[in-house]
Amino acid sequence: MTVKSVLVIGGGVAGMQAAFDLAEAGIKVCLVEKTLSIGGRMAQLDKTFPTNDCAICILAPKMMDCYRHENIEVLTFSEVISVEGEVGSFKVKILRRPRFIDEEICNGCGDCARVCPMGILNKFDMDLRVRGGAYIPFLQAVPLIYALDREKCMRCGLCKVVCGKDAIQYDQKPEIVEMTVSATIVATGFDALDPSSITEYGYGRYDNVITALEFERLICAAGPTGGHVMRKDGKEVKRIAWIQCVGARDTRDNRPYCCSVCCMHATKEAILTKEHYPEVETYILYTDLRCFGKGFQEYVNRAKDDYGVEYIRGKPGEIREKEDTNLEIFYSPSSDKVEILEVDMVVLCTALIPSEGVEALAEVLGVELDEYKFFKLKDPYNFTETTRDGIFVAGYCQAPRDIPECIAHGSAAASRAMEVVLGGNRNEKSQ
Ligand SMILES: Cc1cc2nc3c(=O)[nH]c(=O)nc-3n(C[C@H](O)[C@H](O)[C@H](O)COP(=O)(O)OP(=O)(O)OC[C@H]3O[C@@H](n4cnc5c(N)ncnc54)[C@H](O)[C@@H]3O)c2cc1C
Repeated sequence: MTVKSVLVIGGGVAGMQAAFDLAEAGIKVCLVEKTLSIGGRMAQLDKTFPTNDCAICILAPKMMDCYRHENIEVLTFSEVISVEGEVGSFKVKILRRPRFIDEEICNGCGDCARVCPMGILNKFDMDLRVRGGAYIPFLQAVPLIYALDREKCMRCGLCKVVCGKDAIQYDQKPEIVEMTVSATIVATGFDALDPSSITEYGYGRYDNVITALEFERLICAAGPTGGHVMRKDGKEVKRIAWIQCVGARDTRDNRPYCCSVCCMHATKEAILTKEHYPEVETYILYTDLRCFGKGFQEYVNRAKDDYGVEYIRGKPGEIREKEDTNLEIFYSPSSDKVEILEVDMVVLCTALIPSEGVEALAEVLGVELDEYKFFKLKDPYNFTETTRDGIFVAGYCQAPRDIPECIAHGSAAASRAMEVVLGGNRNEKSQ
């Protein structure tokens, strides 16, 4: 990388869009992703609202476009550990974690995974499916290079025996890569809150209380159940309820904010359920419906009128499991009334929070976070500038937003970074 280049941190839709726009303008980009594959959360989704397009079908070509672009260097399984200097010339250090498989040699054949005797829960599938100790997180992973989970590996050596390319390297060490870049874009997205802390809903205690990301994996044809929505006991589902704002719009843990996507993703998941199983009853319990985007209100109307999805206003106070493991949801449609809705599966639309490690990253970057740990803007009217010159922000890590908005934000951040690379700095000029 040279001074005329940009570092993008986070390979979700926002980061990939930023990297791609810069690369198309002839600017060199280093795209750093902490997991084994680029793609971000969108890769875990089944379809996307409000069009119900297949998420991975839209995303996979974008992932390949980024990875194959001659101006983009993709560093997966890597994290930025230091950024020094100033706008126009940041000296960056990146930690590359070992995959224990040679990236140059591995051709993604999967022989190592097929012989691995280990069964480890796969985080990408929300722990609903097992993978081997030699693995890729999902079939369309980019780059298609396997990794060994050495922490859980029983060191039987079978992968080394079968690898015809001799790509297994048990003694691979972490590496530090250094480079100088003109500007940085941070696009580290979100994590879903673990709802076990919201004890009244019984997540972790009741088998049939699951999260929306788990539901996305269940209903996905490429997911752990081949797209069959079933309970843990294997029974078919007859009545499902989605509960909105779980841990969000809630002052208890300082998360009064709206996550911006759960009214719509619950609607999408209910519609998809009805498309798969027209006889299943679907309920959405909401705080208030926020259908602010183009076509969103029409989408909700369609869910109600064409699919028979029932919307109930009221945030449940409690869920109780019955002896037959069905679930009773206690909610108040008005202040003087408590009603009970019995279902056999509950999907919690949990709060979405800035991704793990964001505080440490903000410290490395020398930028400020807001009170909820989203990246803070220097100026609320300039929605890509962080509190440090030359470091821009894109996507969910700045504030809750959906995929199209993250893509637009990625492009906006890229155009600001482009100004820096091409020699202009709006702030300096206006001083
Ligand atoms: C259940 C559910 C369903 C949804 N359905 C829809 C939908 O149908 N339509 C829609 O528009 N939106 C939907 N969304 C919202 C959508 O997922 C987000 O808007 C979008 O994924 C945000 O993109 P992003 O690039 O900002 O972040 P992410 O997708 O979270 O990507 C961030 C990337 O940064 C990486 N990263 C994090 N920290 C670091 C670090 N320190 N260093 C390097 N890399 C790092 C992460 O590993 C990840 O790859 C849904 C969300 C949920 C939870």
